[in-house]
Amino acid sequence: MDRIYYDHAATTYVKPYVLEKMLPYFTEKFGNPSSMYALGNEAKSALENAREMVASCLGAKKNEIYFTASGSESDNWAIRGIAHAYSNKGRHIITSNIEHHAVLNTLNDLKKEGFEITFVPVEQTGIINPETVRAAIRQDTILITVIFANNEIGTIQPIAEIGDIAKEHGVMFHTDAVQAAGHIPIDVNLLAIDALSIAAHKFYGPKGVGAIFLRNGTKIKKFITGGAQESDRRAGTENVAGIVGLANALELSLSELESSTNKIFKIRNKIIDQVLSEIPYTILNGDKEICLPGIMNFSFEFIEGESLLLMLDMKGIAVSSGSACTSGSLDPSHVLLAIGLSHELCSGSIRVSLGDDNTEEQVDYFIQSLKEIVDKLRQMSPLYEQIQLKGD
Ligand SMILES: *Cc1c(COP(=O)(O)O)cnc(C)c1O
Repeated sequence: MDRIYYDHAATTYVKPYVLEKMLPYFTEKFGNPSSMYALGNEAKSALENAREMVASCLGAKKNEIYFTASGSESDNWAIRGIAHAYSNKGRHIITSNIEHHAVLNTLNDLKKEGFEITFVPVEQTGIINPETVRAAIRQDTILITVIFANNEIGTIQPIAEIGDIAKEHGVMFHTDAVQAAGHIPIDVNLLAIDALSIAAHKFYGPKGVGAIFLRNGTKIKKFITGGAQESDRRAGTENVAGIVGLANALELSLSELESSTNKIFKIRNKIIDQVLSEIPYTILNGDKEICLPGIMNFSFEFIEGESLLLMLDMKGIAVSSGSACTSGSLDPSHVLLAIGLSHELCSGSIRVSLGDDNTEEQVDYFIQSLKEIVDKLRQMSPLYEQIQLKGD
């Protein structure tokens, strides 16, 4: 059996089509987009063509797209930049309790600067009730930032409703769409979003390149000072090859969206059905319907997710426990705590995230391996032994 990669929410491979589009910009078309001669112009037009492509994928205008060096940078810039640009109006920001660390830690920094942050809770399904956002709005609220689709449990938030509430109150609205973009349709024209973050490596593009959509008229502070790149808002010679990769990867993902979604949903449902029916003391976290096609999160009682991850790895299967950023620390995932899991269940959780290189055939081997390992680990658990004895 070949290796099975079930960690697409951490990162994806670069599709050959995307790589092919990128390659010339490393070699013969290596010019600096700011240079005035032909080689520079060639890079410049590739850059502007990519901007146009991204804009049209998101329902935005070309001059509303800015390129960055990661999803994290996009979140940092959008949130800090908007908070600082509107701080004379107020210093209150609303967010959810299931944000990515790129958002969470940026907000923690802003808190040290004197901003006040309200964390709106999610329901047990991992979904926000928009009315709790409305209730949190104050006179001095300047920004709402809510993740589009969660990277640990996959749940999709009511972004349209939250956007309308923000607009009604004249509050700026940013969404971290890093996990959502390329996986579900997003049209900023239909959604009252002022700023949105994406990153190429979550949809089969290269690592180290991201973008933000910033609605015309939205104020934002500069993030990197230097040259006049990105409409004089973000200095630094552009990552032309990476940007070309991001644009082509996004366009390709959306053109294949329906077929890949159907395929991945089918595999997902097969995995969920088998895990829940064949492995006792197991739960599916999040919401089975209102979620990204590829993300599942399971909690297994009497087990350490970390051990499960390592033993699956020995069988050639890659999954993650908690989110990649928190693994390695002993802190339970804030997302799993937010949906009401106990510390024990949090530590017994794994995320399985599918991509379009996965097949239905892989599922049997995965389930077989998972059953064996869970069984083995539970045999070593004194608590599990007690439960078994009580059952007899
Ligand atoms: C991956 C991810 C990020 C960070 O993106 P990087 O490109 O790795 O910096 C931010 N938010 C979410 C929801 C993500 O899934």
